[in-house]
Amino acid sequence: MSTGKIGVTTENIFPIIKKFLYSDHEIFLRELVSNAIDATQKLKTLSSFGEFKGELGEMNVKVTVDKSAGTLIISDHGIGMDQEDVEKYINQIAFSGAEEFLAKYKDTANSIIGHFGLGFYSAFMVSKKVEIRSLSYKEGAKGVQWICDGSPEYEMKEIDKETRGTDVILYIDDDNKEFLEQERIDTLLKKYCRFLPVPVISGKEQEWKDGKYVDTDKDKVVNASEPLWTKKPTELTDEDYLKFYHELMPGNEDPMFWIHLNVDYPFTLTGILYFPKIRNNFDIQKNRIQLYCNQVYVTDQVEGVVPEFMTLMQGVIDSPDIPLNVSRSYLQADQQVKKISSYISKKVAEKLDKMYKDDRKSFEEKWDDIKVFIEYGMLTDEKFYESAKKFFLLKDVGGSYYTLEDYRKLIEASQTDKNDTVIYLYSTDPTAQFTYVKAAEEKGYNVLDMDGQLDPHIVGMLEQKIDKTRFVRVDSDIPERLIEKSDSKDAGLSPLQTDIMSTVVKSQIPQVEKAQFIVTFAALRPDDAPATVTQNEFMRRMKEMAAMQPGGGFYGQMPDNYEIIVNTEQPVMKEIINLATSSLENEVTPIRAEIETINKEIEEARKAASDKKETAPDLSEKENKVADLRKNEEDIIGKYAGEQPKVKQIIDLALLQSHLLSGESLNEFIKRSVSLL
Ligand code: ADP
Repeated sequence: MSTGKIGVTTENIFPIIKKFLYSDHEIFLRELVSNAIDATQKLKTLSSFGEFKGELGEMNVKVTVDKSAGTLIISDHGIGMDQEDVEKYINQIAFSGAEEFLAKYKDTANSIIGHFGLGFYSAFMVSKKVEIRSLSYKEGAKGVQWICDGSPEYEMKEIDKETRGTDVILYIDDDNKEFLEQERIDTLLKKYCRFLPVPVISGKEQEWKDGKYVDTDKDKVVNASEPLWTKKPTELTDEDYLKFYHELMPGNEDPMFWIHLNVDYPFTLTGILYFPKIRNNFDIQKNRIQLYCNQVYVTDQVEGVVPEFMTLMQGVIDSPDIPLNVSRSYLQADQQVKKISSYISKKVAEKLDKMYKDDRKSFEEKWDDIKVFIEYGMLTDEKFYESAKKFFLLKDVGGSYYTLEDYRKLIEASQTDKNDTVIYLYSTDPTAQFTYVKAAEEKGYNVLDMDGQLDPHIVGMLEQKIDKTRFVRVDSDIPERLIEKSDSKDAGLSPLQTDIMSTVVKSQIPQVEKAQFIVTFAALRPDDAPATVTQNEFMRRMKEMAAMQPGGGFYGQMPDNYEIIVNTEQPVMKEIINLATSSLENEVTPIRAEIETINKEIEEARKAASDKKETAPDLSEKENKVADLRKNEEDIIGKYAGEQPKVKQIIDLALLQSHLLSGESLNEFIKRSVSLL
């Protein structure tokens, strides 16, 4: 027997391990099982080269929980170790500047463990004592036992061991009794070892007997040792892919389609990515891609490792080139990982392009479902945008799909405005905006259906990317002004009429929560509506963007601004204007004249003062007088307008069309409509 000191330069390495690695301490099992798998694989390799000539026998890894003995044992039938190996691989941990390093990277246990080949020592996170019993595959090898109680002191001696391979026996400490529960171990094995390439056995299969589950004699294999992604795509059927998907994502709907990645140059990478169905619901969970390194589970925190838009997808990626035991920030900064990421992005674009080229019709059928992925990709990944612009589709309200290029050709002739900008009209809700859509279509325009979550961003992006392009929502203006072909016609009202009619209309607009209205006039076609409500495109977009951010920001606090456009050519409106003018002229004209006179006096007084570089005299009396006169004018016009049910009716109709009429106002509208009948 020999005793010695483990070759760690820092005396107190074990307390450090326990302290810093505490939060992640369950990974000890991954480390020990991985070691056992490696030992098994190594022996298989030696055997295949003829360097090991003995019987391989059963090549599995066993994890045994013995609650009464307080032990957890990981056994394999791999290459094993002799005393020399234990000395070399276990005792001499190449370790320098441990504390300094730990202090720097204390964020994740992963980063430390792999870095120093500390995998095996993670056993001390949960054990008060660790024992190794091993028999090397080498001819004539003697069994070895190694015991260490967590201090840097160990004992090593020769033992009789009949079976080849290694048992690592953990004497679980009092704080970690949970690892003596078969259920807990099952969960961990499922998480980390599900797809390991060697059968991993733990516990027994159970059966239902006498009203409860009881163990059978049959060993329970916890992993699928040949997971789907390691197989050739040509050997797999759709059912295989769907079955695997449901194993990975239990309880999910079938995915739309998948991409099987299989590369060996310029790096090795395999994987399967599924596109789940996502409709208008954007609160989908991310982190559904699992990263493996040679079938060992690494993480499902893949942000920064795979292209951002792919975090919407689900599936697995396996690459020996993804460094296993490093922190996420390290992963994200790793050049190799960056290459992998852009490679995956390219592959996904190629697959989508192929789908589009092979069968455009079925691509169109899938479009509504996959659009969110493609849009997300285009918005976040410049290279992806470059490939995707060829198969990105726009859908119009009639349900036809166009590529960007085709659509431009379609609308260029009729939808170019006087500044040579091509106007893309769109609706975010073709049902709610029906009358606006119809009106635009009647003018021979095409209207796009852009009701997706990301569409407001896409609109902005396309305006940037495609020269001379502007998107205009179909209800942001009256049809005549959506695409301005020439300077618009004068509304044909005198200043007095404009003044009277503005007040007439304004006085009759009901209270709408968080909304502000301005009244404008336009000489439209006689058969167009007498009044139309529109919402400014710019303000609306700003508010929509703000709404997507937490808190809503500056634009989120602003009221909605609407414009009521009065059609001065519409016969009923014409009648209203004429009647209002003749009824109010005599009363309003003298008031307007008086206001004008006082305003002129105010202006002159100010000018005189500023010419003489003096401060202006107190004009508040005059200003108050103007305000009083205005109030008086408004009252007179308002009283008159209140007696004109047609005015209110026209305004309410316009509000109704824009879904702004509700509650009390809607009720009044209905009553008034009935009485007008
Ligand atoms: P790593 O696995 O990163 O090299 P470890 O500390 O986990 O670091 O293991 C150190 C070495 O100990 C391994 O490289 C291997 O040579 C040896 N070893 C560990 N576990 C076993 C095992 N079950 N069978 C044979 N050798 C083992």
